Amino acid sequence: MTLPDALDALLRDRAARDEPVCLFAYDLAGLRRHVSDVVASLPAPCRMYYAMKANSAGEILAALAPIVAGFEVASGGEIAKVRAADPSAAILFGGPAKTPGEIGAALDADVTRLHVESLLELYRISAAATARGRTVEVLLRVNLAGPFPDATIAMAGRPTQFGIDEADLPAAMAAVTTLPGLRFAGFHLHSLSNNLSAETHLAMLGLYRDTVLAWEKEFGVEVEVLDVGGGIGVDYQDTAHRFDWDAFTRGLTSWVGTLPAHWREIQFECGRYLTAACGTYAVEVLDVKRNHGVAWALVRGGTHHFRLPVSWQHSHPFTVFAVDRWDPEAPRPSVTDDRVTVAGELCTPKDVLARDVPVAAVRAGDVLVFELAGAYGWDISHHDFLSHPHPEHVFLGQGT
Ligand SMILES: *Cc1c(COP(=O)(O)O)cnc(C)c1O
Repeated sequence: MTLPDALDALLRDRAARDEPVCLFAYDLAGLRRHVSDVVASLPAPCRMYYAMKANSAGEILAALAPIVAGFEVASGGEIAKVRAADPSAAILFGGPAKTPGEIGAALDADVTRLHVESLLELYRISAAATARGRTVEVLLRVNLAGPFPDATIAMAGRPTQFGIDEADLPAAMAAVTTLPGLRFAGFHLHSLSNNLSAETHLAMLGLYRDTVLAWEKEFGVEVEVLDVGGGIGVDYQDTAHRFDWDAFTRGLTSWVGTLPAHWREIQFECGRYLTAACGTYAVEVLDVKRNHGVAWALVRGGTHHFRLPVSWQHSHPFTVFAVDRWDPEAPRPSVTDDRVTVAGELCTPKDVLARDVPVAAVRAGDVLVFELAGAYGWDISHHDFLSHPHPEHVFLGQGT
């Protein structure tokens, strides 16, 4: 693989220094290009929000703020990060266990809508809104009964901590249409994660439409906003394979043609699909050895920086950036034309980034470059376990 020039130059520079290479690099220019293309291809009335739990770095938020419709957040801390990056950005506030304090702070921070996950939460939001003499727009997050078009469904159609059970919807509808301080705007149906099939996603949208149309009749309401969640995937096993965004937006254009005119906004809230590709995690191989017949490459770094592969139980794709510099007095262990397992610096056998992967050659002193590390990488990792230094975070293409 040839690396983009800026990344290549960065790795050359860091490999020439004395400290082992250990960094995340983010391509902000590429991120802006990708997300601008995504946003431009959405038919009205669809809008793209960024689910910032995927990567909440201030530089990422600032790069995306002028491009996306706003940010989907799930904590008071995330609200503060959005406001630091853009004081006027639209905010959608979700999350399965909001504290009364967070709800009040969200109202004070002027969030656009709240996504409500239970009956009790409706009462808490109503209380916070009336205490401020306000009315706040809410969407009800529903855990659909299913059945769903595909098995990739992760957040609904089975027991999860998310949303209101479809069977409990009548009580929630009664509350949301009568409690003071609330304005019912529609439903929120985020149901799947890392889905790689455009066809499955479109089938899902068909189910959402039919379900919500039936609810409008059943409850005598008009929906204005439907949140169809995120969940558009990235293929970590076959990095050449992409979610077929063009096919998806073609189908989406037909789908929106079937919606009632009073559905004034279809909200997408994607995380992974927007930021995965902009990030790279690069770590130097500190040692190479064999142990019970297995070749190991041990790196300066690991799952405390990049927990994604263990969290999804996959081998994360990487390439080898060859570094010729080496101390001539020391042996230089290597593996050639063999399978290697990449382990980090933590004292736990779970600290593995890739297992049993064929490589042409990897030597101590080379740098392993993990792609698709921009979403759910640093942000989901337990940074201070074992108290190693944090990686460097480099933002390329800032302000270009
Ligand atoms: C995590 C999450 C998202 C984003 O999911 P991706 O798979 O990263 O697109 C969107 N909405 C909610 C409610 C979430 O919890």
